[in-house]
Amino acid sequence: MVEDRFKVDEVAVVGGGLAGVEAALQLARRGIRVRLFEMKPVKYTEAHSSPDLGELVCSNSLKAMGLGQASGLLQEEMSRLGSAVIDVALTNRVAAGQALAVNREDFSKALTRLIEEEPLINLVREEGTSLPKDRYTIVATGPLTSEGMAEAISKVTGDEDLYFYDAMAPIIEGDSIDLNIAFAASRYEKGGPDYLNCPMTREEFERFFTALTNSETVPTRNFEKERVFQGCQPIETLAAKGEKTLLFGPMKPVGFTDPRTGKRPHALLQLRREDEAGQRWNMVGFQTKLTYPEQKRVFRLIPGLEEARFYRLGSLHRNTYVDGPRVLDGYLRARRAPWVQFAGQITGVEGYLESAAMGIWAGLNLALRLSGKTPDLPPEESGIGSLVRHVYSAPGKRYEPMNMNFGILPPLGIRMKDKKEAKRLRAERALKALDGWMATL
Ligand SMILES: Cc1cc2nc3c(=O)[nH]c(=O)nc-3n(C[C@H](O)[C@H](O)[C@H](O)COP(=O)(O)OP(=O)(O)OC[C@H]3O[C@@H](n4cnc5c(N)ncnc54)[C@H](O)[C@@H]3O)c2cc1C
Repeated sequence: MVEDRFKVDEVAVVGGGLAGVEAALQLARRGIRVRLFEMKPVKYTEAHSSPDLGELVCSNSLKAMGLGQASGLLQEEMSRLGSAVIDVALTNRVAAGQALAVNREDFSKALTRLIEEEPLINLVREEGTSLPKDRYTIVATGPLTSEGMAEAISKVTGDEDLYFYDAMAPIIEGDSIDLNIAFAASRYEKGGPDYLNCPMTREEFERFFTALTNSETVPTRNFEKERVFQGCQPIETLAAKGEKTLLFGPMKPVGFTDPRTGKRPHALLQLRREDEAGQRWNMVGFQTKLTYPEQKRVFRLIPGLEEARFYRLGSLHRNTYVDGPRVLDGYLRARRAPWVQFAGQITGVEGYLESAAMGIWAGLNLALRLSGKTPDLPPEESGIGSLVRHVYSAPGKRYEPMNMNFGILPPLGIRMKDKKEAKRLRAERALKALDGWMATL
């Protein structure tokens, strides 16, 4: 095998984000020496700002928990596979209903400590810019991969069109929210009053909607190449499709009663807590590429946010990823350069959990292969197996990133009216298949 020609005493992981941390720990915990390159604090991407590893750049939520949710299933699978991200998230949780939300600073600090305390990991604060043939490298540089590494990747994959665009939501300072208007509750009162909710009457919504649809956005540098992921559309893009897209989407009022009127509001904005003390709140589903002055003007039209101070404004960002089905195999190796592996969002998955899960699989399979055992791919009935399958074999002309959802799992093969029960059965099948596969590793 090609692999046997290379040194196996140390492998490189480039990028200390969610995927890089998972990959490095999987390797080290199986006795493989790792050199983990992270370019922060020497160099920062446009979205990162903390020197710590595993930085959450936008939302502080690792999505809903529980096996009735696709994200909850993936969390459980990752946990069984020894995920550091899930473990650390659980010990740094902040209240957010059924969501696994974390205090982002404590979360990243805890992941950094884990890496620093792991004797087989050598953390090097340097930008990785090459993929030499004489060492195994896992590239986990994320959606904002530095230019230097993007060039090196293009050379080994032949992939020139490496990116598209995403948007992120603003965060508001807690003491600037008017609590005479915004009320604490979760939808259908599930999971405690963890969110703040800004209710709107029809007139208030229409005023906001008109302002939003007439606002100014930041132009993309190369407009022709602007391709936005379907699951992360900016709020103004959704608004351009019509009022109902907001009223049945991010501003849906179902499951809430405005305590001031005793009635369901016409529309509603949810704010999710960023920290336990409630000093910062994330505008749920309000990722945006409005210009900064326009964000302040338009979002302050929302009742309760008239005096809002923005801890961070929303913005548009690049998303680098390889054309998985053409470039990668099921072990996330570059087909043309099998000493290079990919992990995280750069493989063409979307989301914190999904990225970390691809880090687990990359690190795990490399560790096993280096100890002489080539594992089977994770079963496609499992969430992680379905994501891997998407990455190396998604059909269609244009490869688009995928987040975890029940739709990517194979069908049950029986027609079921009860959707909840169908999800439960799929989750049960997924975990059984995963356990069976893990027993073979
Ligand atoms: C602005 C933005 C907002 C997002 N918001 C969300 C969200 O709200 N929810 C969600 O689920 N997902 C979100 N995502 C998508 C995705 O889940 C995250 O980006 C996730 O952090 C990806 O994990 P990763 O480990 O692949 O990359 P990252 O977490 O980005 O980690 C990559 C690391 O590599 C480092 N690096 C880059 N190039 C080099 C190099 N050449 N050498 C050394 N180090 C390098 C970076 O500094 C960084 O620390 C967002 C993405 C972006 C860019």
